[in-house]
Amino acid sequence: MSDNFSHNVKQAAQWLREAQRVAAMTGAGISAESGIATFRGTGGLWEGHRAEEVATPEAFRANPEMVWRFYSARRTQLLECRPNPAHEALAEVEHCCENFCLITQNVDNLHRLAGSQNIIELHGNIWIDRCWDCAHEEPVDGVSEEPVPRCRKCGGMMRPGVVWFGEMLPPGAIERAQSAAAQCDVMLVIGTSSLVQPAASLSGFAQQNGAKVVEINPEATALTHSADLVIAEKAGTAMPAIVEALQTEPRP
Ligand code: NAD
Ligand code: ZN
Repeated sequence: MSDNFSHNVKQAAQWLREAQRVAAMTGAGISAESGIATFRGTGGLWEGHRAEEVATPEAFRANPEMVWRFYSARRTQLLECRPNPAHEALAEVEHCCENFCLITQNVDNLHRLAGSQNIIELHGNIWIDRCWDCAHEEPVDGVSEEPVPRCRKCGGMMRPGVVWFGEMLPPGAIERAQSAAAQCDVMLVIGTSSLVQPAASLSGFAQQNGAKVVEINPEATALTHSADLVIAEKAGTAMPAIVEALQTEPRP
């Protein structure tokens, strides 16, 4: 690895060590090395639809079976996926910090499987079904045989517990995320293109409140020019290196 990489990793570890409060924001890129496609990465057509055409309330209203085929395919794929070293390293950062909050745009549950605990899932979780009519929620751990699963409370159609394009975020999620962003001393922004609002604005909010923002992403993004530190590497390489530096260097 280059001197630049080592230098940046040490700098990130130093800031984490000095921080009272740490926040992390993750996007689809942190799960890429677990084999989960990012939305924008693949040019992603599914049965001839753009993701934006499947992941909407309008699509569900018009064709719930089609939307469920999409999500059942994603669940089937996810059953094969495990957390990668970046998820594991981030869970380790939580252990090392007194006060840690993970804000994720991912719905894949891999942060929980890796052991992270204080998580705000801004876009919901794909392993939850929610009733379209009565909002009853049900955790699930497999793929339903039914074309459209039914609510055990009211018989209505269940939908995946994720936030679709044009929908509100889960109640309280953005407020909790803003509060974590406002209070943190360091924010790690990992594997997100920083294009989807309101998630993308949280790092600016953190910076305005005095936090250092560290971006971890092999590609330049909307955030890159304003980040305090950019580690232009894959998360599965950069995060374990940061944790190693955090754990091996003596506390001041
Ligand atoms: P995005 O697809 O817009 O951007 C992904 C980013 O990850 C890119 O900037 C890319 O350069 C970066 N990246 C790719 N490989 C990486 C790696 N190995 N290490 C670090 N970074 C890497 O993703 P987004 O910003 O999260 O926005 C997409 C939306 O789609 C989100 O709202 C999210 O909810 C949803 N989504 C979720 C999942 C999931 O749960 N895993 C997957 C796809 C999409
Ligand atoms: Zn119901």
